[in-house]
Amino acid sequence: MLKGSSPLIFERSTEDRFAYSLPDLEVEKQELSDIIDTKFIRGTKAELPEISELDLMRHYTELSNKNHGVDSGFYPLGSCTMKYNPKINEKVARMPGFANSHPEQNDKAIQGSLEIVHDMQEHLKEITGMDEITLQPAAGAQGEWTALMMIKAFHEANGDHNRTKVIVPDSAHGTNPASAVVAGFEAVTVKSNDRGLVDIDHLKTLVGDDTAAIMLTNPNTLGLFEEDILEIRDIVHEAGGKLYYDGANLNAIMAKVRPGDMGFDAVHLNLHKTFTGPHGGGGPGSGPIGVKAELAKFLPKPLVVKEGDNYRVEHNVPDSIGRVKPFYGNFGIFLRAYTYIRTMGPDGLKEVSESAVLNANYMMRRLEGTFVLPYKQHCKHEFVISGSKQKKMGVRTLDMAKRLLDFGYHPPTIYFPLNVEECMMVEPTETESKETLDGFVDALIHISKEAEEDPDIVLEAPHTTVIGRLDETLAARKPVLRFQREDIIEEKE
Ligand SMILES: *Cc1c(COP(=O)(O)O)cnc(C)c1O
Repeated sequence: MLKGSSPLIFERSTEDRFAYSLPDLEVEKQELSDIIDTKFIRGTKAELPEISELDLMRHYTELSNKNHGVDSGFYPLGSCTMKYNPKINEKVARMPGFANSHPEQNDKAIQGSLEIVHDMQEHLKEITGMDEITLQPAAGAQGEWTALMMIKAFHEANGDHNRTKVIVPDSAHGTNPASAVVAGFEAVTVKSNDRGLVDIDHLKTLVGDDTAAIMLTNPNTLGLFEEDILEIRDIVHEAGGKLYYDGANLNAIMAKVRPGDMGFDAVHLNLHKTFTGPHGGGGPGSGPIGVKAELAKFLPKPLVVKEGDNYRVEHNVPDSIGRVKPFYGNFGIFLRAYTYIRTMGPDGLKEVSESAVLNANYMMRRLEGTFVLPYKQHCKHEFVISGSKQKKMGVRTLDMAKRLLDFGYHPPTIYFPLNVEECMMVEPTETESKETLDGFVDALIHISKEAEEDPDIVLEAPHTTVIGRLDETLAARKPVLRFQREDIIEEKE
């Protein structure tokens, strides 16, 4: 058993203890061997934990308490938008009419669900400034890939077969170059300038008749607004390329500016980030994409269309790139996002953006004196600071991130983006109070002081968690992911 931890479910196990009780059988009991061929019946009892219902309950409750989530504490993970997920979303997603519907049902029987899909598409058109939307992709990365496949189909349809390159900034999220490569393109990096923005002169040297697209996010992954976006648009469009907008984090611009108005031709949105789908732990997510009219005929099929007052699933889409997800995407997630959009309304979404940007700037300015701030202009929904000053004292950003755990905070994103040394990327989101923001800033300032006066306390952190500092190399190379039965036997002896 680990120091300070509660027993594992296997360690609690006592033979023949049950967590259930069933009434006596009213029919004659059959032997297993009467029903199943004996060669398929195991010779020894399965090594499953045998515990009471109460112990089972405690096991799961303890596990849930060991997790850090937005509902348990501050989670300023940059580029992840770990905002509060309103509980009304869950209530709507569980309404029996939605929860019990099945995508194989006849269109007539699921008009309500189809209406939600269609209405959601209309809202996302309005928010992004795009002409058509599909809700199919299951995540941001799949949205990127889907839109790139559509851009590819567009160039091919124009007989433009040599557009093999997708331009991606050095500050981009890792999924951007990855999606470009998976879609069969070559990813080409455009440098950032000393203000953290796309280096226009460098961009000019990269574009040409082999440019398929540029992938940008604005504000970019440093939290900075690309002020020259209209010039970038002209440079790429004049070369015959398309502009792709990584809209995973729309938290800074909702109801303020729209990718469509900035000149983008395609966009994906992460409903599990900006639009309060639960997020973390691997899904399910939802990464709808929006496109301008000239790309629309390549949308993945099927489509949900409205005819008069009725909704219909259209499978006959001749130029479609095909299906990218079974049925119509993760319906439960867009129900939550739909509820969020409807409860916030346009003014509410605008306020979200304003508060998210205000919160980020407030924290950035409070931290500016203690940490190196590589880019001095105002930020949008997130900001980047560097631990380079603390590194000279022998304490790295990783150490400070571990120390934050002792204060009950999830650390910010660290060592990303790659173009800032000892980087921390902080995204507070709009849902946190000033007291929470101050608490986190105070903790970081305190840790920086420790780095100066008592670095060991930071270097050996975390001190309060069940498991202390891991040997990260060993954990990656030889992970122990499963309970080892032998351990318990040894310990019991
Ligand atoms: C999260 C994120 C993605 C990827 O989204 P997934 O849903 O995790 O695939 C892409 N770009 C940016 C900027 C992101 O923050």
